Amino acid sequence: MRRFVRPLVLTALAACCGAALAAPAVNDQPQGKLPRWAMPESYQLDFKVDPRQQDFSGTTTIKLKLEKAADHLWLHGRELKVSKVVITDAAGKTHEGKYVDVAPKEGVVRIDFGSQLAPQELSLAITYSASLNQQLQGLYKVSHEGQPYAMTQMEPISARFAFPGFDEPSFKTPFEVRLTIPNDEVGIANTKQVKEEAAGDGWKTLTFAKTQPLPTYLVAFGVGPWDVVKGPEISSTQYRAQPTELRGIAAKGEGHRMQHVLSETPSIVHTLEDYYGFGYPWDKLDLLAAPDFSAGAMENPGLVTFRDWLLLIDPDSPANYVRGSFNVTAHELAHQWTGDTVTMGWWDDLWLNEAFATWMQQKVTQKVHPEYRADLDRVRGAQGAMNGDSLVTTRKIRQPITGNGDIETAFDGITYQKGAAVLGMFEGYVGEPTFQKGMRAYIQEHKFGNATANDLVASIAKATDKGQDFQQAFKSFLNQPGVPYVQTQLSQEGGKTVLHLSQSRYLPLGSSGDAKSMWGVPMCVRYGTADGSKVSCELLDKAQGTMVLAGASNPTWVMPNANGSGYYRFAMAKDDLAKLGQQVDKLGDAEQLAYADAVYASFKHGDLNAADVLAALKPLTSSKTREVATAPLGSFNWIYRNVAQNDAERAKLAEWAKAAYLPRMQQLGYHRKPGEADTDSLMRDTLADQLALVVKVPEVRAELLKQGDAALKRKPDGRLDLAAADPDLLGIALGVAVQERGKSAVDALIAELPQTSDPAMRNAILGGLSEVEDPALATKVRDFALVKQVKVGEMAALLRGGRDTRAQRDASWDWSVANYDKIVERTGSFSGGQLPSLMGGGGCSKEEADRLQTFFKTRAKDVTGAERGLAQTSESSLLCAALKAKQETTTAGL
Ligand SMILES: [Zn+2]
Repeated sequence: MRRFVRPLVLTALAACCGAALAAPAVNDQPQGKLPRWAMPESYQLDFKVDPRQQDFSGTTTIKLKLEKAADHLWLHGRELKVSKVVITDAAGKTHEGKYVDVAPKEGVVRIDFGSQLAPQELSLAITYSASLNQQLQGLYKVSHEGQPYAMTQMEPISARFAFPGFDEPSFKTPFEVRLTIPNDEVGIANTKQVKEEAAGDGWKTLTFAKTQPLPTYLVAFGVGPWDVVKGPEISSTQYRAQPTELRGIAAKGEGHRMQHVLSETPSIVHTLEDYYGFGYPWDKLDLLAAPDFSAGAMENPGLVTFRDWLLLIDPDSPANYVRGSFNVTAHELAHQWTGDTVTMGWWDDLWLNEAFATWMQQKVTQKVHPEYRADLDRVRGAQGAMNGDSLVTTRKIRQPITGNGDIETAFDGITYQKGAAVLGMFEGYVGEPTFQKGMRAYIQEHKFGNATANDLVASIAKATDKGQDFQQAFKSFLNQPGVPYVQTQLSQEGGKTVLHLSQSRYLPLGSSGDAKSMWGVPMCVRYGTADGSKVSCELLDKAQGTMVLAGASNPTWVMPNANGSGYYRFAMAKDDLAKLGQQVDKLGDAEQLAYADAVYASFKHGDLNAADVLAALKPLTSSKTREVATAPLGSFNWIYRNVAQNDAERAKLAEWAKAAYLPRMQQLGYHRKPGEADTDSLMRDTLADQLALVVKVPEVRAELLKQGDAALKRKPDGRLDLAAADPDLLGIALGVAVQERGKSAVDALIAELPQTSDPAMRNAILGGLSEVEDPALATKVRDFALVKQVKVGEMAALLRGGRDTRAQRDASWDWSVANYDKIVERTGSFSGGQLPSLMGGGGCSKEEADRLQTFFKTRAKDVTGAERGLAQTSESSLLCAALKAKQETTTAGL
């Protein structure tokens, strides 16, 4: 879903035919959305595809309604070589048309009719050919073990590379797809295949059932020597009369590894149907493991596509793969309702797709796998989003779209995690059953159509009987950027315990932003009573407010974000924070995470020094809950990298981490135990990474080096023995080996990658290589990222490594500048929005921000979305520098 603009090839474009046709009299070229006076009603898409070739061809036939007299219409197409345009009018008369590539970069195209046509139904047939895309967008080509495949990724605006059409989400129509492919290949699409016919000369034509109304970005198909495996049938329910066929699709030879994911899928679908009271709406469900993919996964109705490692799972796969696989599958299946059945009207409401899928995925996971603690994932996701949302250069959830760059950069933590947290917060405020009632009404009202934020908020408001205040509060989080910052102060007044509240925008030290902002914050606070604690809630929709804490003990303590469910940060007087710190073990896990965030936020705000932070977070490190015990690592690592001035200070900090985590590491051991809880495997992974690669504890490194050496040993067939290491620790073990053994380890891994098809093993090799420290070897690893044996979607794993020190960042920067054109040429998968952070992320000085700005000054306009990525990466670097300077000039207290 993310990409660069390719350098344009301006040959063979423009006037293909009927050169004598006159251009239209009026220039009404759309600058944003297409006009609504030509409305598509259905598509017939014919493709002739052989993945072994470089090009494909097709004919797109669109039935449409012309709603005003016109001699042309507007639609989308990019890099299509059109040979013929035929317009058939309502009377059956054909007209030769002309395809005019008016804005090749945006993909806006004019079809000239040659004469004025009255309002009527038309059929428009466009015959063309195009290259199979090399950058993971539109109809693109990938290889697995030397065999080529062709598959699609249309979201957000890449359908126009695959076929001409009205490539905007509000044009929902049925599609009929026909694939003409070589006899020995398999073709799949959104719907069931209904016909197969011989097409001569070794070709066959497959016809697929007509779809429900879909936007262009959800059309999907694939061609290649795929393995197709049957999964368990998804049994019928009160919401769906017929059982649904479930299949797994993978590159040849990999299909047998899909059974685990397929076995989990029916329970996900049933949970979603129960919630929405609406049956799975398509005629089958295929999950496809893509050999190379730009995003994590894509929710195409009936044909959901994934990065292969998310689906190819074995019993001994790393625990984070198994969990990640479930979470992503639940996310994509949630989209079958929010996104696919009800689609956002325009990209400014992308959150209606993504925030809902993220929020709903957490609900499904909590139901089917409560041990995965999706409740804590939501809190952690929200806290990650709050870090990004503290920047002045952040987006709003509903950011106006001013160009294609805004569409591409909308797929970020604000849309997904902030959106999900805000939904969870208002769900908590109105109550789960009421919110569900509103959601069911929303799906029913807009099924197979489009919706906007107003539709959604109105549906929920109607279900709750809450009025304008509620709607305004909800919208205050959608339509303005930033994180509410609520100051709290306890006082005793006339025998009552009163909590005084005041709100502003959270801005870190050094920010140039304006703190004056106001939200409707549904605040819930927990406070101490004689026999435990109590929660009290109120909507804070003024700059100031008070809450009377009925039955509070005196003195009492307050946790201003009960259950961690609010999307806001809080600040308290130092004494109150200390009192809360003493109660921290009495708080629930989510509240302990909220406490950790409050400490981090105060540090970034400049109110606590580094030593205060470590003291305040220490009690969390002994929690039995993995997410809580590891919550201090974010703050710790920032301090370790940026505050420690010398080896002595670093050693002292390393002691802190060792005291906090080494006993747990030793207790877990360095190998997965038979039948152990997956949370133990995940903890082992996190602690090994922290202790071996961040603070470099010798005894932990020695254990991992043993595993790394074993994995690098050659087997009789000459291949590395990667299975010799613990599957959860393989990448870390290889990382330690790369640092300790240097060239021999780097060379062995570079030679092994092309021979390895297992995606988990590939990721571990890439992860190990990215830990390289020797400057010459680091250059070698970066150069390797540009060769074709590293998949386009894998490049970032190599290029984002090695950013801890200024010297490493300088080396990474110099290499990126020297290889900029090659990166841009290769990486359709990184959007321009990610390019600045890929090159200059992790910076902590004005010089780093400046050189990034200077470099992109002339280049940003050529890579879609780069402006926002540039602004955010530079701002992060400056904020880091400001806090670092404060810790240096005052006292970090280390
Ligand atoms: Zn999604």
